[in-house]
Amino acid sequence: MHKTDIDLVDMTMDVMKYVIDRLSSTKQKIGKPKKEEELKALVGETITENGIGGERAFKLWKKHLTKCNVPIDHPRHLAFVPASPTRAAVMFDLVTSASSIHGAYWMEGAGGIFCENEAMRWIVSLTGLPEDAFGVFTSGGTAANLSAIVTAREYWRSLKERNNLEKGLIITSIGAHSSIKAMAKVADIDVLLVDTEDKLEKEALEVTIKNLPIQQRQRLFAVVGTGGTTNAGIVDDLEGIAAICEKENLWFHVDAAYGGGALVADSVRHLFNGIEKADSITIDPHKWMFSPYDCGAVIYRNPELAKNAHSQQGSYLDIFKDEGAHGFNPTDYQIQLTRRVRGLPLWFSLATHGTDRYKEAVERGIELAQIAGRLIKENPNVELVREPSLSCVLYRRIGWDSDDYTHWTYENHEKGFALVTPTKWKQGDSYETVSRFCFINPDTTENDIDLILKSME
Ligand SMILES: *Cc1c(COP(=O)(O)O)cnc(C)c1O
Repeated sequence: MHKTDIDLVDMTMDVMKYVIDRLSSTKQKIGKPKKEEELKALVGETITENGIGGERAFKLWKKHLTKCNVPIDHPRHLAFVPASPTRAAVMFDLVTSASSIHGAYWMEGAGGIFCENEAMRWIVSLTGLPEDAFGVFTSGGTAANLSAIVTAREYWRSLKERNNLEKGLIITSIGAHSSIKAMAKVADIDVLLVDTEDKLEKEALEVTIKNLPIQQRQRLFAVVGTGGTTNAGIVDDLEGIAAICEKENLWFHVDAAYGGGALVADSVRHLFNGIEKADSITIDPHKWMFSPYDCGAVIYRNPELAKNAHSQQGSYLDIFKDEGAHGFNPTDYQIQLTRRVRGLPLWFSLATHGTDRYKEAVERGIELAQIAGRLIKENPNVELVREPSLSCVLYRRIGWDSDDYTHWTYENHEKGFALVTPTKWKQGDSYETVSRFCFINPDTTENDIDLILKSME
């Protein structure tokens, strides 16, 4: 089973050429799902006692299954947060898989971890955190947020004996990503939401803390600000939140899973002022740093605190902690033990292209949002809900209700033409269904945006 199969190598090369040729291109259609029964009828039994053979399995994949996936890097895929991995990163993702590197401990994965750390040093430098700050790559923003929240909670518990008896409490806003609430549940922490989908401001946070009953105030240990909300690209008042956290002795976590890539863009960097005062930061390279899935990152002002929270103990692990194995062990700083060196494709791409190209590619996403804003203002059928922020654009089709948006989304998806999905925007007490663009892919064109807007007529 582990012998080299020359046919399989050839086949893999063919498929790679086919896939690489279509990366980030409108040559491919946007795939759409089929029902499980339909797929089963098309491909039949694939897991059998004797196997169906690589050639047949490959054929089924190419003919039926790959068409049921949305290529997330398609230039007219503007839903959720798209992705747009570089070819260099995609190629090195294959090398990463083929190299069988265990990325938990330096003793086993020094070469790979060295490269990850080089890339990480660049990311940390974008944040403006002090020299000692450092981070590790995770499976995504959700795992990064969980790792940071648990680190903050364990630190809080180490401060006072009685905190060990309390259930912790964190504050964030309703603009925060769903994973904050989900991960607080995993860690058994309560969440208080400030009721604004717009920028979380210093004053609102101050009032919220002031109004907490004493029992709740004692349980409060962290505030989560967002560096680019997923829905609208809004960056909270990080400077203001940092000041309150300092005054109130609270951990300050910044979730910049989506927006973190924009730290490299001179045109918007000032929006993130204050991020350098964070205790921890989440950034997803698989969103706006052009890495393939899955690659998130968590960064700590004081990595020792993360180690106190996450380092796993076991007699079988002692050898890794021995002086002889001395080095940086990524497992110590987040929730996962065995891990892929998932920062390696990013390292190769950064080394290949240089950081200036990253700056240009991110600026292009921001520019595309401005272009979309202009096209929307020129088009009498649509109007902006708010000015574009980072690379997000919320706009309404005048006269449409929520069913109209849903039908339109399905229709464009059905044709394989575009994937643009509706969302809701909250103002006061009311939620309005609107349409949303999020630009990541620098290969999206003005014409793509124009075609999508025209399809709303
Ligand atoms: C996408 C996103 C997350 C979750 O990241 P995953 O990589 O999907 O786990 C968390 N926070 C924000 C702000 C995001 O945009």
